[in-house]
Amino acid sequence: MRAGAPLDSATRRRLTGVLALGLWVTTSPVSAAHDPPKAVVIVTIDALRADRLSAYGYDRPTSPAVDALLGAGLRFEWARTVEPLTSPAMASMITGIEPHRHGATRNGLAIRDELESLPAIMADAGWTTAAFVSNWTLKDSLTGLGAHFDTYGEVFTRRRWFGLLNSEATADDVTAEALDWVEDHLRSPAAPPFLLWVHYVEPHAPYRFHPEVAPRLGITDKDPTRSDRYDTEVAAVDRAVGELLTGLEARVPSDRMIVVFAADHGESLGEHDYWGHGRNLYEPNLRIPLGLRWAGRVAPRVIDRQATILDIAPTILELLGLPIPEGFAGASWAAAALGGEPPAERILCYQAHKGAVHGEHDADRRRSKGLLWVGVVDGQRKELLQIKGSAHELFDLARDPRETAASSLDDPPPSPELLTCLGTVSEGLGALDRLAAHRLDDETVEQLKALGYLE
Ligand SMILES: [Zn+2]
Repeated sequence: MRAGAPLDSATRRRLTGVLALGLWVTTSPVSAAHDPPKAVVIVTIDALRADRLSAYGYDRPTSPAVDALLGAGLRFEWARTVEPLTSPAMASMITGIEPHRHGATRNGLAIRDELESLPAIMADAGWTTAAFVSNWTLKDSLTGLGAHFDTYGEVFTRRRWFGLLNSEATADDVTAEALDWVEDHLRSPAAPPFLLWVHYVEPHAPYRFHPEVAPRLGITDKDPTRSDRYDTEVAAVDRAVGELLTGLEARVPSDRMIVVFAADHGESLGEHDYWGHGRNLYEPNLRIPLGLRWAGRVAPRVIDRQATILDIAPTILELLGLPIPEGFAGASWAAAALGGEPPAERILCYQAHKGAVHGEHDADRRRSKGLLWVGVVDGQRKELLQIKGSAHELFDLARDPRETAASSLDDPPPSPELLTCLGTVSEGLGALDRLAAHRLDDETVEQLKALGYLE
């Protein structure tokens, strides 16, 4: 584990300068009559399918801690990521804009310099910001996300045995690192409020089997299927999330703490002959669990309207009464969270790219060469376009939730909305091609291979 260095003053000045020049959508503090929050916590789980959580109807008890969290505030029934890959999706959550604008369109490609972001805006307002991540693709040296946080903790190896045993970190290790940081931070009676983002790599492939949770899930087979192993990963990470929340609640009153829960993307468990995520835009990849809890302020409510991972940053900013940059792509759910109207229904644009750059093939690093699919979702109408191969698929998710009955390319032609989505993404990628990509080191290439992104 490498503890993140504090934001250097040059970087902070650069970010602050951008903020000072930015155009703002002004928001009013919605919490003026109440004590302001002391903590905003974002918990993200890697490759977590919504439909493998009991809160979303799964019949196995995989997720008691997450279910309790999602049942105590807003739970979004139809939330999606913007691109089903870790680094692109998480960069979008943090910067508030889509991959074709922030630049991290594939694992191994960094975001552009001088972007606005949720943590930078909060830091400017006096918040202390920290992240603890356990997916290699989120390394600061690959993504550039570390500069947006005061502390950026990378939890890849276990701390036990004084570092002599260089083994994989677990969800419990991530929880421990995060809670240690909170403990340290709150030691000062004058500690500023804090933003904490914790990202757990489980249940990302390869799906480890967790025998200690198997009996509770009714898994007795000595040679469990991949799908069963995936469920044990979900149950194991759920336990770690529960310990994180319990630890936080012991230190911060729950009515002074906003908790957001999300996955970076889903996971295809064999649907459309595909295991994994990233290379298509079908619902197992795209759909994510999403929720927001603020005890005493946000009443439990299930939201049926479409939401996206891009909505997280503007929602938090508005709940805190902080300005939302005009360029942020998502919508704020702050009013809905406090009992008001949700944002208007939107037609949302999605994108899929190749999984990772390869250090040995410079030409592959061009952002525009990695685009695989674009898609739009308008209520229950979903339309996908494959860039190479030219598949054009149209689905009615209400009648065909498994997306098995696509229309053909000729009937009907791509909609204007889909063509606009394609044009916008392509134009952004073309502009990004002028950015240089850095060469991946050997260790990173090995790690990306282990995660299934490189062959
Ligand atoms: Zn991921």
